[in-house]
Amino acid sequence: MLASIATATLIGAVGRPVSVEVHVSNGLPGFTIVGLPDAAVRESRDRVRAALLSSGLPWPLRRVTVNLAPSGVRKGGAGLDLAIAVGVLAATGELPAGCTEGLTFCGELGLNGSLRHVPGMIALADAAAPRGLVVPLGDAREASLADVRGQALGRHALEVAAAGRHHVLMVGPPGSGKTMLAERLPGLLPTLTAEQSLVVTRVHSAAACLGPDGALVTRPPFRAPHHRASIVALVGGGSWSLRPGEISLATHGVLFLDEMGEFPVAALEALRQPLEEGVIRVSRAGGTVTFPAHFLLVAAMNPCPCGEGVFTGACACTAAARARYTRRLSAPLLDRFDLVVPLFRPDPDQLLDGPPGESTAVSAAKVAAARGRAAARAGGDPPLHPDGARLLASKLREGALTARGLHKVSRVARTVADLMGAEQVGEEHVCDALTLRTARSTVAP
Ligand SMILES: [Zn+2]
Repeated sequence: MLASIATATLIGAVGRPVSVEVHVSNGLPGFTIVGLPDAAVRESRDRVRAALLSSGLPWPLRRVTVNLAPSGVRKGGAGLDLAIAVGVLAATGELPAGCTEGLTFCGELGLNGSLRHVPGMIALADAAAPRGLVVPLGDAREASLADVRGQALGRHALEVAAAGRHHVLMVGPPGSGKTMLAERLPGLLPTLTAEQSLVVTRVHSAAACLGPDGALVTRPPFRAPHHRASIVALVGGGSWSLRPGEISLATHGVLFLDEMGEFPVAALEALRQPLEEGVIRVSRAGGTVTFPAHFLLVAAMNPCPCGEGVFTGACACTAAARARYTRRLSAPLLDRFDLVVPLFRPDPDQLLDGPPGESTAVSAAKVAAARGRAAARAGGDPPLHPDGARLLASKLREGALTARGLHKVSRVARTVADLMGAEQVGEEHVCDALTLRTARSTVAP
């Protein structure tokens, strides 16, 4: 009546193995989860029960205790659902003994028994047991790929984002690789300078987020707060001692907001001031503290509540539901994103058989060269080729660009030219920048 199932949880961007021990005993029917579960894990009780019943599988009318080991590690997210469900089935003898041996199970369950995407699958795969990983079909590719195949536009947008420090919003259905692309971004950024390293280490130390060796942080951090994180966890604060939040922990690195459409409006609005100033001032009864918040914002969202988006033809949302979803993002916040990238589910053939995309190392070298070119100009702009100027002028005349938009497109075009190693900002660079910016109409029509 005891089963132990392997799964994994994300700590920051690193996967940690977790063992789900399920014990089923006689006694009053009940379901308890122990071992530092967060709210989402505690709620898995209801999802797992509904999913099993919807799948025509029995739910034991006995006492079910789930222990998550090691007990010292906080377990977050809904990705443990699948392992808990398999554990219940194994503990009640519904699964043949030994069939889960050497396998790691990761996935969120829908009430109808469907399996849903889990963020951070690459990191979770790292923590998997030797025989294999059981994951939602859409995540299988993510878990099995070392580097990003397909999604040429997405990869290009990330290079531009890293080279010019442009905030980027990716819009696409589940399974289109948004998380995988975002997780690749810190690898494209250069190693921190000595000064940045001190700032980042100091913030991480204040939040007690340093590793056990307390070494200097030298790589750009990657922080991916959950949409259920509190505003204090996001921007910093606290009632009795002021602590830096996720946006400060992401300073000189990447702040990734997955499922941005699910974040509370107040949390998103709280990002506007730090995005503007690069610092966050937190005032509480204990006083006011300024924390650094100089991060590269990468956000991902589904095109609509059902996730499919109008372009796939499979969208089940009403127009009103779609409008409600996009209204949550204020125009000033959307305006912070220089790059808005529509993503589609990649063609499986292209993923498995097509040529591999450029490796992260090659992309990182291009980004470093582009940053070098920009730094060598010391703030000056590269000359705008007459063809590029003509294209911008025509877009202004047509009303496709505002004066503010013109400024932003010019900045992105400059970064694109730097990435291509061009001396002048030409028509093709402006064209590229227009594509990367004007895709915002897919989010906010
Ligand atoms: Zn929809």
